[in-house]
Amino acid sequence: MEIKSVKAFGTTSPEADLIAMAINRRVVTLKDVEIEILYCGVCHSDLHFAKNDWGMTTYPVVPGHEIVGKVTGVGDGVSKYRVGDLVAVGCLVDSCRTCSNCKDDLEQYCPEWVGTYGGPDKHLDTNTHGGYSESIVVDEDFVLKLPKNLDLAGIAPVLCAGITTWSPLRHWKVGKDSKVAVVGLGGLGHMAIKLAVALGAHVTLFSRSTNKIEDAKALGVHEVVISTDESQMEQAMGKFDLIIDTVPYAHDLNPYVGTLATNGTLVVVGYLGPLDPMLVTVPMIMGRKAVAGSLIGGIAETQELLDFCGKHNIISDVEVIKMQDINTAYERMLKSDVKYRFVIDMKSI
Ligand code: NAP
Ligand code: ZN
Ligand code: ZN
Repeated sequence: MEIKSVKAFGTTSPEADLIAMAINRRVVTLKDVEIEILYCGVCHSDLHFAKNDWGMTTYPVVPGHEIVGKVTGVGDGVSKYRVGDLVAVGCLVDSCRTCSNCKDDLEQYCPEWVGTYGGPDKHLDTNTHGGYSESIVVDEDFVLKLPKNLDLAGIAPVLCAGITTWSPLRHWKVGKDSKVAVVGLGGLGHMAIKLAVALGAHVTLFSRSTNKIEDAKALGVHEVVISTDESQMEQAMGKFDLIIDTVPYAHDLNPYVGTLATNGTLVVVGYLGPLDPMLVTVPMIMGRKAVAGSLIGGIAETQELLDFCGKHNIISDVEVIKMQDINTAYERMLKSDVKYRFVIDMKSI
């Protein structure tokens, strides 16, 4: 297979900083689109993966799955895109295309889905490498069309933070009469709020401190509950139809289950791993309440969201950084010091 060396930023061990490196990209094959990356969002998953928090990382890692760019080449069999088009790539670059999940537009649940980084590259004998790079080559079926009216840096986080919260909002049929709560005001949390508000829901934020109350209100939140204040948590009991929990680390879910209404669902999208403390089933049984999980979203659903964002003028609140600032950005993300998504201007690479 013909390959091309491109500039990237990645890491070779959990302890090391991200540094400049060269990676290989395939030269376009029949159905491939080559994309010059203009912007790439910085997701907390990038940090988890770079640091091997989930114990599944193979190094070197080049993170980044909120990619916006310009088409610079297409294979002979490509019909959806032309050179010069502005396009996007999210968390998925391939799947088996034949299993029931693929047929149902749920490629993210395909047993053979290929993540944009850290997945088994079907073309090269390496892992896939993500958007912290000059360019990427992706099968046209996993490339998305961008709305024309939105800021390119602001739209990038829609590709992961947006779709990860949109998918549960849609699956649990959130609309005008819904009472939705979001746990944690970070990248995912702020997109969850914007999208739930746009769907007409009554939206509450659970945050650990009072620091973000004003920001939350500006994002359209109707109420803020400080999760560390027991009396506020007590007052929130029995209220919500859907809670989207974006907290990245192990935490007690039991107080949040208590705030669900009968038939309500708490969807965990943040923390991946065993719960500590354990879940107490009593409130679940006594109120037919559910605790569920959800992974990003499929290609069709991501396109639906991009179109929705175009129609409703929704973008992420971003702080644009240079590629060389990525290690500081990770440190700041760990301290929740980001309003509300870092996006890398890839010219800086
Ligand atoms: P983020 O920007 O760092 O936001 C996380 C927020 O959670 C923080 O702003 C903070 O909000 C709260 N938080 C942080 N640490 C906490 C702690 N120790 N205890 C309680 N609350 C804490 O992260 P993100 O990019 O939104 O990602 C959130 C999580 O979702 C990550 O674990 C990421 O890997 C995961 N993720 C999952 C999917 C999926 O498909 N399921 C997709 C993308 C990302 P407050 O200050 O308001 O409390
Ligand atoms: Zn992500
Ligand atoms: Zn499949």
